[in-house]
Amino acid sequence: MSDEVRDDGFDDLLDAVADGEGFYVECDEGHGSLPPRLACPQCGSQELSEEPLPESGEIVTYTIVAVPTPQFADDAPYVTAVVDFGPVSVTGQVRGVDPEDVETGQVVGIDVDETVTSGDRLLVFERR
Ligand SMILES: [Zn+2]
Repeated sequence: MSDEVRDDGFDDLLDAVADGEGFYVECDEGHGSLPPRLACPQCGSQELSEEPLPESGEIVTYTIVAVPTPQFADDAPYVTAVVDFGPVSVTGQVRGVDPEDVETGQVVGIDVDETVTSGDRLLVFERR
């Protein structure tokens, strides 16, 4: 059970990704960012539109987590990666691959899964 307050903007994103309709927010200057946003984090523009997230991205950096926080105790070891989707970079857990086999440059798709430890939803990446 989780007592976490629902984070509307982020849960909307999780819902969308789970439905295969992930999106990001783009301002009128073309800066991409992840919701929830009221203004562009780069230029402050409030002219924001929702754009479909590309189907796959590339791992730009990753960390193998062997000693996690209690929230992820039963998930370890796991890999947290930053994936470049072009307009936006997304942080999540890499699934379905041994941590030693994760490399930068690998192409992954995005999905939603639950943490082993708490059942909380999170963004995950899987090899394409
Ligand atoms: Zn902007």
